[in-house]
Amino acid sequence: MPLCHPVVPLLSRWLSVGVVILAGVLRALPAEAGPLKAGVGKVDVSRADAGPCKPPLYVRTLAVSDGETTVVLASIDAVSIGQIGHIGNQYLARVRQRLKDELGLDPSRFAINASHCHGVICGDVEERTVEAVRQALARLEPVTVGTAVGHEDRIMENRRIRLKNGREADVRHAYSMPAEEAVAGVGPVDPQIGVLRVDRVDGRPLAVVYNFAVHPILGVPSGSNTADLTGFSSQVIEEVLGNDAVALFVQGCGGDINPVTYKDPARPRDAEPLGNLLALSTLKAWRQVRPEVDPQLKQFGVPLELPRADLADRIEAQEAELQRLLKTLRGTTLNLKTFLPLVMRYRLDPDFPSQYSPAYLQERVLGRPDLDALDVSNRAAMEAYVQNIQTMEEMTRVQTNLALLRMHHAQNVEAGKRTLDVELTALRIGEFRLLTFPGELTVRIGLNLKDKAPHKPTFIAGYTNGYIYYAPTAEQLLNVGNAQEDSDCLLAPEWQEIFENKAVEMLKRLD
Ligand SMILES: [Zn+2]
Repeated sequence: MPLCHPVVPLLSRWLSVGVVILAGVLRALPAEAGPLKAGVGKVDVSRADAGPCKPPLYVRTLAVSDGETTVVLASIDAVSIGQIGHIGNQYLARVRQRLKDELGLDPSRFAINASHCHGVICGDVEERTVEAVRQALARLEPVTVGTAVGHEDRIMENRRIRLKNGREADVRHAYSMPAEEAVAGVGPVDPQIGVLRVDRVDGRPLAVVYNFAVHPILGVPSGSNTADLTGFSSQVIEEVLGNDAVALFVQGCGGDINPVTYKDPARPRDAEPLGNLLALSTLKAWRQVRPEVDPQLKQFGVPLELPRADLADRIEAQEAELQRLLKTLRGTTLNLKTFLPLVMRYRLDPDFPSQYSPAYLQERVLGRPDLDALDVSNRAAMEAYVQNIQTMEEMTRVQTNLALLRMHHAQNVEAGKRTLDVELTALRIGEFRLLTFPGELTVRIGLNLKDKAPHKPTFIAGYTNGYIYYAPTAEQLLNVGNAQEDSDCLLAPEWQEIFENKAVEMLKRLD
């Protein structure tokens, strides 16, 4: 009789619904071992005799294997992989050779991104990099992976300023800002944070890879050695996640992206608050990540030849510009000592700057307004002095950039060929797709490629597997001599189309 009770079929239906729900929950939780294994490594690369380093500089590694292919992505708190800074030009080749000889890793499976912080690293960085890879490979364990896109727009700004004369100037400490009345607008930023979450199968975090575009060059108030903004963000992420999880920052297309407050003379230069914001935004995205079913691992590198610039004409044009500016300098009655008090006086009281007002009024009644005439003359003298100062500021910009053009012209001539060899890599870990390039890509290149990419999201990293200085757009290269990125560059404008076409082709191969 109880079997015929109407509640039984109802109960059985609930139970079966419950099983379906439970099965859904189990699928959503990272309870099963995925097909991928991963391990992490982390070694301090701060230079001991450079004094205290806060936060320390690290090389961090993430090894991922699907059983057939093993890939290692590394992130190092250094300005670049070769050419400038403390890492030698033979570093990458030597590290790869050692990874092959000592660890059996296919050298083409190793990619390393420089955060572009300007910290001082140790002399035995090759040894320590190999050690970090050794750690990662020794600790491979089953993992789940997932991807999310975070958002951060409070910590950076485009450093190229559009001017009313059609040119672009740059926010740098190497030269002064353009006059306010010359400014027409600012360039774009990329607020995306590309986040790859790698967890152990019991749910404990193992690694976070996060890609973002910003120059980590703010420093710390003490002026000490530092991994800068992105060193702080990685430190916060690692402290919050615990479990010896490693946060690998991968620098994006930050060529023309500065941290905010970079040139604020009214406050100490402090990267920590900005790093904290980047960390919190990354963690916010990290929490949204769900483990992927059957994640794929793909990776390959492609060599590419890019055209070198012929900078001779541009150097000539900038030298002519320097001479033109020089000739516009005019004699002035004022010098700094007499100019500054006058500025104060004329700002304080524009109506009666030179004397108490009754003196002006008395002169006007008598029909001989000498003070009014003096003010006309002083204002003209101040204007002439300001004009000279602005010309001098313009000359410092041109001269600084001219030095960069001359240096790169010499390098291009010395190379003995018209092309520059670079290595691009494409990496896919689940739905996390990353394309890398060795130069300082400007943000428009990153935004272009993210737009053209066959899959969204796709992330782009400069500063990887080598260093070829700045890589601005073809349009930005027409501005040669007015901003750093278009002067601190080896490439001819045609490079952009060649690179972007190859990048899209490579991204298609990740499917
Ligand atoms: Zn840079």
